[in-house]
Amino acid sequence: MGALAVSYAGDGGHIDSYYAATANAAPLRRALTGANDTDICIIGAGYSGLSAGLDLAEKGHKVTIVEGARVGWGASGRNGGQIINGLNASLSTIKKRYGQDTAKFVATNVQDGGEIIRQRIAKYDIDCDLRQGNVFAAITDKHMAELEARKSLWAAYGIDNQELLDRETLKTYVNSEFYAGGLVDHSGGHMHPLNLALGEAAAFEKNGGTICEMSPVISVDTASARPLVRTVQGEISCRTLIICGNAYLGNVVEALTSRVMPVSTQVLATEPLGEKLARSLIPGEACIEDVRYILDYYRLSADNRLIFGGGSVYGGSDPVDIEAKLRRNLVKVFPQLAEVKVDYAWSGNFALSFSRMPQIGRLGTNIYFAHGYSGHGVTASHLFGRILSEAVDGDLSRFDVFAGIGWVPFPGGRKLAVPYSVLGSWWYGLRDRLGV
Ligand SMILES: Cc1cc2nc3c(=O)[nH]c(=O)nc-3n(C[C@H](O)[C@H](O)[C@H](O)COP(=O)(O)OP(=O)(O)OC[C@H]3O[C@@H](n4cnc5c(N)ncnc54)[C@H](O)[C@@H]3O)c2cc1C
Repeated sequence: MGALAVSYAGDGGHIDSYYAATANAAPLRRALTGANDTDICIIGAGYSGLSAGLDLAEKGHKVTIVEGARVGWGASGRNGGQIINGLNASLSTIKKRYGQDTAKFVATNVQDGGEIIRQRIAKYDIDCDLRQGNVFAAITDKHMAELEARKSLWAAYGIDNQELLDRETLKTYVNSEFYAGGLVDHSGGHMHPLNLALGEAAAFEKNGGTICEMSPVISVDTASARPLVRTVQGEISCRTLIICGNAYLGNVVEALTSRVMPVSTQVLATEPLGEKLARSLIPGEACIEDVRYILDYYRLSADNRLIFGGGSVYGGSDPVDIEAKLRRNLVKVFPQLAEVKVDYAWSGNFALSFSRMPQIGRLGTNIYFAHGYSGHGVTASHLFGRILSEAVDGDLSRFDVFAGIGWVPFPGGRKLAVPYSVLGSWWYGLRDRLGV
């Protein structure tokens, strides 16, 4: 394979996570070497790139995905596994900021990502422990009022698969005194995120797609009629380029750098708890996240571990002691787990946009990108991957509307983005703590 030392992923192996330890078998793909040519080149084998690539390969296009590390090495192979309908920016924020028509348009699309995931799992028989349902948990009465308003607004757009839960009913989903109530979305869910990515990659290859792993892109020539992508050991020229490097892209494509900022969030996996203890904490199938700005998100794995995530570090660095950081939050929800053994703790980066709206767009005529799902990207990356594939295949109807939603650069670019966002995070964290 070669060129391992220069990969931004170190030796390019997956990070030491529960997901990597329980990943389904996957081949080691060859790196890109020498001069190559393809119709459509995609940078990044996360959900965005795989989603777009699989759709295009299914339609018969010649597609090559160039991945700097391994399939699912980025956020897609390390996340909380929560399949949440909606974007990070809420429909009410979208309505206030961009108007009723945009909110209505977004509402007609926000359930598609979850549907794409379920369809793919069924069609390609992807073994990734899919479970149904997600719960938004309210800590305060004010949070509960927010959830009531959310349910009404979504129902007004015709989305009515959500159910409000009072304090006692919530306990049939999550048995904790920490919460005032919640809302269950029966069409949400959760799964083993790395195995989903590996399954999608296999499906892409089954449809004739090519993936090159361990091939960090070091530059992109956007000026020529056929974009040229240079990697450490090779290059590939293409008719159309799709950039899906998200938080890990760094400065490779300067025009995208100030649009998003990497933010790290952390996850731990406890030892297996056994069926009895696990079900005493989470009696139902659903995963749970609370509604704070800096939130906890958690679920049970197929082998009854608690997979518990939370926190964020702006700029994308890792906290010194991930386990200690997360254990404090975990114990607030489940005090009985104060002494639980933690088998894995890891960190990963998502891409935050200033408005918390995902971004999709085009540089010139034949270079497309999507990124910036702002921490709620499992469904959004599948939706935006599909919209990218539609655009490249000639149907710009959804692409044009999403691309037309304005974006705001981080004030001061990447340099000031971190202090600015730390301030923002401190402010929202304070509001969370004060319950306002
Ligand atoms: C710890 C964590 C927990 C999360 N939990 C949830 C959750 O529970 N629910 C939810 O909805 N969202 C969650 N998210 C967000 C979600 O995982 C992401 O939004 C989503 O996976 C983004 O997919 P992507 O394909 O755009 O990016 P990524 O999965 O990050 O993929 C980008 C890929 O591009 C590659 N790449 C980057 N630069 C280059 C380059 N120069 N050359 C070649 N390849 C390159 C990377 O190696 C990577 O594989 C979480 C994120 C993290 C980090």
